[in-house]
Amino acid sequence: MPLSTTVNIRSRSLAIGRGDTTHHFDRSGRLTFSTRPGETIRRSLDDRALRVTASAGARDYEQLSARDKERWYTGAIALAAEARGQDADPVTSAWLARIATQTPWRLAGDAEAFARVYLPVSILPPDQYHALVVQVSHGCSYNRCLFCDFYRDRPFHVKTPAELGAHIDGLREFFAERLADRSGVFLGDGNALVIPTGKLLGMMDVLRREFGPIADPFSTFMDTFTLDHKTRGELADIRAAGLTTVYSGLETGSDRLRAVLRKPGTAVEAADALNLLKATGFRLGVIVIVGVGGPQFAAEHLQDTLDTLRSVNLTRQDIVFLSPFVDPGLSDFDDAVRRGLLSRFGDEEVGPELARWRRALAGLPARVTTYSLKEYMYW
Ligand code: SF4
Repeated sequence: MPLSTTVNIRSRSLAIGRGDTTHHFDRSGRLTFSTRPGETIRRSLDDRALRVTASAGARDYEQLSARDKERWYTGAIALAAEARGQDADPVTSAWLARIATQTPWRLAGDAEAFARVYLPVSILPPDQYHALVVQVSHGCSYNRCLFCDFYRDRPFHVKTPAELGAHIDGLREFFAERLADRSGVFLGDGNALVIPTGKLLGMMDVLRREFGPIADPFSTFMDTFTLDHKTRGELADIRAAGLTTVYSGLETGSDRLRAVLRKPGTAVEAADALNLLKATGFRLGVIVIVGVGGPQFAAEHLQDTLDTLRSVNLTRQDIVFLSPFVDPGLSDFDDAVRRGLLSRFGDEEVGPELARWRRALAGLPARVTTYSLKEYMYW
């Protein structure tokens, strides 16, 4: 018996399923992700495709080749074309017609269109993938952490009003009708809170006027040592202006490891900064890097990080992200390993180490969740 095709309109997508496979399309008709048991393929806004397969508790990641990506697109679009012949509902029919216009060739054009608006959106917290990223600044004002290659391709720069205006125009053109499906504005790149307060508040004001409810709430990254640039009163003003969540890389509570990683400031200073943010009413996303430093730091890294997190007034609203270490492939990192300053876990040791951290941090008042850099894409 032939398999039947099901079509469902959800709040932000149209889902077409046949057998154990479901394809999801956004309101412009672009394919966004597909699922089948044990496998998900997601498409990024800049037209990359990531396949995640899960088996026996482990996950594998594969960027699809151009050929495999085209095959994926073609299969999903063909299924939509078949469904188009069957469905009489006008809303669904119009959606299916839009899918037919998003050919593999046209989808490939998103890579160039994205690059016209954005410098690479190198990383986002996993609960911000559906935000509208606005690059009010580029890069990181510090840019020297040993494990971080996110912004080595660009100098730190705060956009001028004219540059921000052009960026906003570009965002409108790029997202078009898809803007309606973004929720919240993420202020990029690496630590937008260093922007002088008056200027930052002015930028938020412009964004609220331009994007209305989408710009509610704001969130951003901030490194604990850059908080010196803000008084308590300034932080309160930024919070009152709608920036609700600050994501911050604590990375480790071990001062010895922090020094090797070239992370400025002590763990106590980092905890003080996080407590100041909590006292000012921000929700926190605190990122720690599981496995960084390797076996030689494992016990100290876990214990000191746990102690530091316990000294922060975390609540159930906050999230602690356990981010398994990913080797940045940087020559200075390799050099530090060669000199014996730190080491690396083997691939087979990463899973057990993550499980150990999960158990150790389970008693914290915040939610504790995994933040896999390998799964990241802005989509
Ligand atoms: S970890 Fe944060 S502070 Fe360090 S270089 Fe990367 S973005 Fe900058």
